[in-house]
Amino acid sequence: MTATQADYYDVVIIGAGISGIGAAYRIHEKNPNLSYTVLERRERIGGTWDLFRYPGIRSDSDIFTLSFPFEPWTRPENVADGDDIREYLNHTARKHGIDKHIQFNTRVVSVDWNSATDTWTVHTEQNGEPTTLRGRFLFFGTGYYNYDEPYRPEFPGIEQFGGEVVHPQHWPESFDYTGKRVVVIGSGATAISLIPSLTQKAGHVTMLQRSPTYILSMPRINPVVQAIRKVLPGKAAYWAVRWYNTVVTVLTYVIARKAPRFSRWFIRARAKKSLPEGYPVDVHFKPRYDPWDQRMCLILDDDLYTAIGDGRAEVVTDHIDHFDANGVVLKSGGRIDADVIVTATGLQLQALGGVTLYVDGVEVKPQDRFVYKEHMLEDIPNLAWCVGYINASWTLRADLTARAVAKLLAYMDSHGYTHAYPHLGDKPMPEKPAWNINAGYVQRAAHVLPKSGTHRPWNVRHNYVLDAIDHRLDRIEESMVFGRVGVPAAKTA
Ligand SMILES: Cc1cc2nc3c(=O)[nH]c(=O)nc-3n(C[C@H](O)[C@H](O)[C@H](O)COP(=O)(O)OP(=O)(O)OC[C@H]3O[C@@H](n4cnc5c(N)ncnc54)[C@H](O)[C@@H]3O)c2cc1C
Repeated sequence: MTATQADYYDVVIIGAGISGIGAAYRIHEKNPNLSYTVLERRERIGGTWDLFRYPGIRSDSDIFTLSFPFEPWTRPENVADGDDIREYLNHTARKHGIDKHIQFNTRVVSVDWNSATDTWTVHTEQNGEPTTLRGRFLFFGTGYYNYDEPYRPEFPGIEQFGGEVVHPQHWPESFDYTGKRVVVIGSGATAISLIPSLTQKAGHVTMLQRSPTYILSMPRINPVVQAIRKVLPGKAAYWAVRWYNTVVTVLTYVIARKAPRFSRWFIRARAKKSLPEGYPVDVHFKPRYDPWDQRMCLILDDDLYTAIGDGRAEVVTDHIDHFDANGVVLKSGGRIDADVIVTATGLQLQALGGVTLYVDGVEVKPQDRFVYKEHMLEDIPNLAWCVGYINASWTLRADLTARAVAKLLAYMDSHGYTHAYPHLGDKPMPEKPAWNINAGYVQRAAHVLPKSGTHRPWNVRHNYVLDAIDHRLDRIEESMVFGRVGVPAAKTA
């Protein structure tokens, strides 16, 4: 599988975010003889961590597991700012020579598999011009949401509002909100990291939510992590901290699911202790659902509660009736006057970066296919899509996927195979949602995701511990079909 033509690559990676950079590293590490390119529609590395520029943008899972295992995170914070993550991704790409393989301003529009030659034809727009290249294996590191269009619900009368309306996905550069009255619509991770930051300059900030979300407060600099880093030497400390954070994340999730009453009590007690005496905790911070039915939000060092206590921020739990020139009129009859409205209303889920997929000229919808080992699609040759966890750091899963693909490529190379695809056959398989979470952006667009089966290797579990064990015991031939160009397929068990 060596490149012979300028426009041909053994591996075409789409996207230069965490997933694409991680894949480039792992694939090259195990297959230094294979050529690869990274196609990136934007002009910079970083994906999510470059696109989102709102004040206070930060990770809401710990950075020691969100960073790559092959490039340790060296800063002290347990949760990192967007700027630092962006810089880390740039540094990683430069250090490992991945940046030289990236073709920027190259948006992949469609891909077509040709069974006669076992190659993908990749149709792109490069600097606005249509171009084509070919590749043997496609790795989609395109993330999970639409980059062009965030989710914008229809708000009656919004066009009459006399102030500015901003969405966090497209935060205007050097947007000045000094002294202004800001209303943030939403109560998800974005609203909750944005609000404490906005209060540093804004006159006043109101979080307008339809219903409360579970919020947990964590220290930005975790004393346990610092103690581990003091006692153990460099690499050992890094691994111990990663495992500590993984265990804490997994345990928090398991306790929330197995003992929801205890979790509800614990979260409420923490909020009550941190909010001012007599604050209506149950109105604004007591969700109707159980912890982790929807994604849990993280605040740092009680920052949101402190801003509420200081009177710099307030929470209003109500429904929007309509907007007028001066602000929002609420269903309860109240109103909030504003100079700026921030619609932290979320993302639009998107499969495969919006790329249209063809196999021998016939369009294939990802949602019609089962997912294999959480990264390949049923009966689609030489293609992987990297999707992270919804209940733990994205990179924990992304790195397992990158290593699995690197291993598959090495296996194919050593056997002279030019194609490989997972095959379920006629066996009936019950379906379940691939992202079993009640978050708005998943509920709105769950139908765009490929299907999860109910047993391995077709089961999407969002369980890092089980996935890591599976990865160690992995049988590469399980439910796979391998073959060479022009030679009938070799089926495996
Ligand atoms: C505000 C926000 C905060 C988050 N915080 C966390 C967190 O704390 N922890 C966590 O685990 N996860 C978090 N996530 C999820 C986050 O997206 C992942 O952490 C991670 O960044 C995903 O990496 P990725 O490379 O798979 O996708 P992305 O970061 O989305 O990168 C995808 C890349 O592919 C490119 N691309 C897409 N389509 C095409 C195309 N057709 N052609 C060419 N290029 C294309 C994009 O331009 C982009 O550069 C957060 C997400 C958001 C939106």
